[in-house]
Amino acid sequence: MNVLLAGLATLSGLRDRQAMDFTLVKLMLSTELWQFSSVKLLRAVGPLNDQHWLTLAQCTCSQAEPTHDQVWLDISALPTLSDFPKREAAIVTESVQRSLTAPFVTVFPINTQASVCSVLEVLSDQALSADLLPHIDSVLRLYENLQSLLDYGEKDSLTELLNRKTFDSAFWRAAQAQETIQMVPETERRQPNQEVSYFLAVIDIDHFKHVNDNFGHLIGDEVLLLLARQMRASFRFHDQLYRFGGEEFVVLMRCSSHADAQAALERFRTHIAEHDFPQVNHITISIGFTPLNLNDTPSGAFDRADKAVYYAKEHGRNQVCSYTELVASGALQAPADDTEEVDFF
Ligand code: GH3
Ligand code: MG
Ligand code: MG
Repeated sequence: MNVLLAGLATLSGLRDRQAMDFTLVKLMLSTELWQFSSVKLLRAVGPLNDQHWLTLAQCTCSQAEPTHDQVWLDISALPTLSDFPKREAAIVTESVQRSLTAPFVTVFPINTQASVCSVLEVLSDQALSADLLPHIDSVLRLYENLQSLLDYGEKDSLTELLNRKTFDSAFWRAAQAQETIQMVPETERRQPNQEVSYFLAVIDIDHFKHVNDNFGHLIGDEVLLLLARQMRASFRFHDQLYRFGGEEFVVLMRCSSHADAQAALERFRTHIAEHDFPQVNHITISIGFTPLNLNDTPSGAFDRADKAVYYAKEHGRNQVCSYTELVASGALQAPADDTEEVDFF
């Protein structure tokens, strides 16, 4: 019991999602109340009709530290939901799934957000006693509540996208990951001929003031909400989506090339232009984007993408503009200390 309480105290003091996931898995393995040989925390990711299992944390009793899947893994390489019927049933029925014959697998559903479903899968040497289920369930409810508290601080209340406060730390993580990628010799990369890099895009709704003026603020809010939903459906699950305020959105994306980033953004722009929004019918968006550079800063990268948005606004709106291309063509002037020329790739 002491180990469990100490673990819960540690868990409640954490603010980092990965640290929380790892602590939960280790806690489940360490308590003397039940004996698990392996614990896995998984999330169903991807579009609703094609979801896959991403491992957030997994550990066995002989393993010192948990491991996890890299979030930018090719999603199609991960097992599909139906590859693991017990996990799938736990999500669909929102109830614990227990094997009463070997191998003794028990799967607990975890609802951390309305749109995301996770499960905890544990393996034991014998069937898990029904008396223990409420105790494990209580630990998982605490984990859910802690996740909701994090969501509350990190998410925009209207759209449920990430808010601006969390952008800087995500940016530094991306910059660090980019540096790590560059340190792996090209010959050892899984796809040696492909560059992998992070890009920052700023998305701004065109003439949004007209939407409010013509249809009212409530309909304006509805458009923001629907746009956020389209963003979630259009970008990949590991792209980080923000509402920076007002009608301005930001995407921090990992792509294999500048052309890939441009194509993904162009696809989203076209999709929005064609989408039928209730009452308002059609809106358009202008997008500016830039790769992250060596020695970049969150405000430096944002300013470059924002300049490209400004250029798009000045040149007809409803278009995607690349800061790199605008500078290369002479349409925009790079500041003297701009690091664009010495970027990572
Ligand atoms: P542009 O094409 O140049 O971007 O024009 P715009 O009208 O979209 O841009 P502008 O910056 O002039 O106006 C943005 C408007 O967004 C002003 C404000 O009424 C509206 N707005 C900002 N935040 C919110 C919000 O939370 N809800 C709603 N409904 N409107 C908002
Ligand atoms: Mg606007
Ligand atoms: Mg704006």
